[in-house]
Amino acid sequence: MQPSENYINKKTFLRTTILFSFLSLLTALNLASAFDIKQAPTEVKPQVAQSQAKAAVSVEAAAPLSMTLKKTAVQQGQYFEVDITGAEKNPLVWFNSESFLAFKVGDKAYKALVPVENLTKPGGYVILARTGGWEERIPVKVLDNRKPIQYIYLDPDKSSLEATNKEINEISSAFRLKTEEKYAQGKFSYPSTAVKSSPFGVKRSYNKGPVDSYHKGLDFAGKMGSPVFAPADGKVALTGLEKDGFQVHGNTILIDHGHALSSIYLHLSKIDVKKGDMVTKGQKIGEVGHTGISTGPHLHWGTYLYGTSVDPELFVK
Ligand SMILES: [Zn+2]
Repeated sequence: MQPSENYINKKTFLRTTILFSFLSLLTALNLASAFDIKQAPTEVKPQVAQSQAKAAVSVEAAAPLSMTLKKTAVQQGQYFEVDITGAEKNPLVWFNSESFLAFKVGDKAYKALVPVENLTKPGGYVILARTGGWEERIPVKVLDNRKPIQYIYLDPDKSSLEATNKEINEISSAFRLKTEEKYAQGKFSYPSTAVKSSPFGVKRSYNKGPVDSYHKGLDFAGKMGSPVFAPADGKVALTGLEKDGFQVHGNTILIDHGHALSSIYLHLSKIDVKKGDMVTKGQKIGEVGHTGISTGPHLHWGTYLYGTSVDPELFVK
């Protein structure tokens, strides 16, 4: 048994050696692929797999892209606070068919305050963030803010004053600003020391029609000529006068706070700033009045994210 076994082993060894030499020769001549040799790929494969694994590990260690939400359920008129880490450039965040540019807040760290319009239908939605080939989705909920509905009856014959193209165009272009610099730091202060007279978000139906508008700000019952203060640092993006066509908004100031956050002051009697001025928190910017469509002296204060009106109280609390 022993000699025959030896013989077979020798024979097998010889065959293997010959085959190996033949394969080496084929490889050297670059002919292996033409012969469809099964052994060749198995020898190469582990090396490729190893290098791929190494690459995947090093990429992951360098930039673990991820999105987090401060809250996954917010009310109408509020916003989702979206943080993205590990990104090389400003990601885009999508909500309810609209996209929002996230702003740089640190090393590879970005943030977007995504507004939920006050008349958004309550229910389930998705927040999606995207940059390069990366994408992440988080399911979210919009809750009904249960703001009261005002039923307003207007005499159809009564001619109502409509906003001019000038005020619509100038205000909407200021709302489109996406300033990379963040001027406002920390919490806002109130722009008036007067008592609040009407909260944000009260929904309105005209002549028993659908609820299709709402109060886009917070009102203060300030006396004629009482001071209006900047609630946070910013840059004056717009001033408009009633006599120059701001017939609905009246004398107006709009402040850009950076990162697509802005605030607006309406019905003023006096404006102390001009477009391009830098303002600081607590600085007097104007005086309360009743210019434009206003039943009496008051300050209307609105806050906007990416041009969408959100509750000013969110920035003060
Ligand atoms: Zn108002």
